[in-house]
Amino acid sequence: MTLPLPILMLPVATQRYSCHGCGNCCRDFTVQLRDADLAKLRAQGWEERLGMPVTTEFRGTTYLRQREDGACVFLMEDGLCRIHREHGFAEKPVACQLFPFVLVPDDVRTHVGISFACQSVRENKGAELRSHLQEVDRMSRGVPETRVATYSALLSDAMSAKDGELDALRMSLDRMLAREDIVLRDRFDGLAWIAASLGKAKLAEVRANRFGELVAVLAGAVPAELEHIQLAPALPKQLRLLRQAAYARLEDVQVNQAKSRGRWRTVLAQLLASRAFTRGKGRAPSVARGLLDGLDFAAIASVPTLSESPDRDAIDQLLSRYARATLLGNRGWGAGYYGWPAVRGLQALVLNIACTAWLARALAAKRGHAAATIDDVRDALGRIDRHAGRAPWLGSVGERLRLEFFRLDDGLRRITRESI
Ligand code: SF4
Repeated sequence: MTLPLPILMLPVATQRYSCHGCGNCCRDFTVQLRDADLAKLRAQGWEERLGMPVTTEFRGTTYLRQREDGACVFLMEDGLCRIHREHGFAEKPVACQLFPFVLVPDDVRTHVGISFACQSVRENKGAELRSHLQEVDRMSRGVPETRVATYSALLSDAMSAKDGELDALRMSLDRMLAREDIVLRDRFDGLAWIAASLGKAKLAEVRANRFGELVAVLAGAVPAELEHIQLAPALPKQLRLLRQAAYARLEDVQVNQAKSRGRWRTVLAQLLASRAFTRGKGRAPSVARGLLDGLDFAAIASVPTLSESPDRDAIDQLLSRYARATLLGNRGWGAGYYGWPAVRGLQALVLNIACTAWLARALAAKRGHAAATIDDVRDALGRIDRHAGRAPWLGSVGERLRLEFFRLDDGLRRITRESI
């Protein structure tokens, strides 16, 4: 019998979490069920007691049923879960137990990452993460594939990472992201610059220790090196693509909605909304349960960048914590991000952060704020991270092409500086 991989709790000492029972995840997520979950639900006898099905099938997969408003059928008025109340925490479907933890195996260990879709994670409220290790270890037995070595991660397209290379990348970036002497915009511009530089480098010529030295040199050159590279404002096409990328991260078709609308009407509605975001003129279409309803795209331009916000210190801490947690929790590439190579995953992380900044400014415009507040950024990050590594379309060829386009003309750096 093969032993399960050792488990490594997210090593970001500044991150905390405990569930505060806000119930947001139960109002928001579509929960996919495993055979063991279905057996538990049957044994608990819900269908007989409630007189209605508590699961639903969609395209060959079984999910927890949702109400009309998208909330889980088990969510009670006080925000608590009925299965939890009547049968205990360990009797809930395993996905509900695990959230917001994310288990990501590589070939030597299982990293425990954390999702910023959870309000307590974003607000950094609760216990030290290491206090959850034993419980996460127990829950992980319900998803045994997360404790098995998957595949050796790739460094770049068709180039496997050698021992220590990805750890070296993570550590150098983490050190750079934790530096308080670098201002918010430079820190994320630096991340975009490193992602773009690694995309251009001939990595086959710098392997193992030399790769570690390269990333240490790049990370150590931030912010000084950025001053020497002239950067023009983002091109209109880059801004169009940024809005399109933001839409792809906000798209949120619920199972019950898709079932009642039918496939073609759903696809048509998505196409029209995507085009409206690309155009970026007039009223924003309804997305993510009305998140941007009433917003005129033109109003976003009048909201200053996040670096000019009076809340910039709190925003800085939040976004830095997010980027560090994504990298150290192994959610940036490999099994944590569509099996993507590290260099492309890093570029996607920069794009996710730029989309968060765009959405935060959009929310500020909609809410009549003169600048994005920490709440606008928290709400934006919750929406953007909700899909990261989970939504199949964000791991698609279309998304890869989008990143390829951003690699041209310093696209990632320009959109980062323009919004952060
Ligand atoms: S969003 Fe986070 S804090 Fe709120 S109920 Fe879910 S796990 Fe708990």
